Amino acid sequence: MTKPKKHLGQNFLQDESILAQIIDAAELTPEDQILEIGPGKGVLTDALLQKTKQVTAVEIDEDLLPSLRSQFSHHKNFNLVHEDALKFQPPEAPYKIVANIPYYITSPLLNHYLQNPNPPSLLVLMIQKEVAHKILAPKGKHSVLSLQVHIFGNPELICEVPASAFTPQPKVDSAVLRIRVHPKPKIPGDIKKLFWLIHMSFAQKRKKLTNNLAPALQKSPAEIRELLTSLNIDPDIRAEALTLDEWQKLFKHTNSS
Ligand code: SAM
Repeated sequence: MTKPKKHLGQNFLQDESILAQIIDAAELTPEDQILEIGPGKGVLTDALLQKTKQVTAVEIDEDLLPSLRSQFSHHKNFNLVHEDALKFQPPEAPYKIVANIPYYITSPLLNHYLQNPNPPSLLVLMIQKEVAHKILAPKGKHSVLSLQVHIFGNPELICEVPASAFTPQPKVDSAVLRIRVHPKPKIPGDIKKLFWLIHMSFAQKRKKLTNNLAPALQKSPAEIRELLTSLNIDPDIRAEALTLDEWQKLFKHTNSS
């Protein structure tokens, strides 16, 4: 077995009780099709294969493939794909993602799958603890990242995971997050335009929404205050405090004018 590669986020799970919590959280049925990102040495893959119809495991590291093949190729429901998970096109059939993901691609990975024409119905992901809490977003504390999740699904914390659950141990603690994907995004319309508006609104975090939006929409701050007031949104609000309903109203208005 080759040395774990830090740049690929190779911290392998060794704690059976955490593994059991991940499997429970995925609410697996024998009919489920699972996409696992980064099977590594196959500890999660093994547990998934015992419970489901089909596991597709996407692993970028060629050196890990021989061991995965020799462990699992006798399972007719195992499909190993050597690819970057950010380039992989998921199946049209309903599927779930269950994975201990490499943390360096958390945000692009969430975008790739949640904004995909074939999104999963559910994701259970091990990610960095701080990032999990940022995604969960306590009231009034949204960020671009939390909106990238909440617009498409409902995130819940399953458990926090100490660094000692892995080998080698990462420098940060982790958490398991479950995201139930909404049948339709909470805010309808062109996703690229929506996220342009969101990015602009958070351009300078300490500034009020009005002062971020005015230059982006080429309007005066007074005009933006007037617009927010007409939409029943506090004109002194910061972007982080906007609710999804308020984002929807604001997007609908700016997109149509
Ligand atoms: N699932 C294993 C476990 O629980 O022990 C390994 C998890 S480890 C945190 C992340 C895995 O993702 C590694 O096997 C790594 O090689 C793989 N990986 C890293 N970047 C990837 C990418 N862009 N696409 C697919 N796999 C990737």
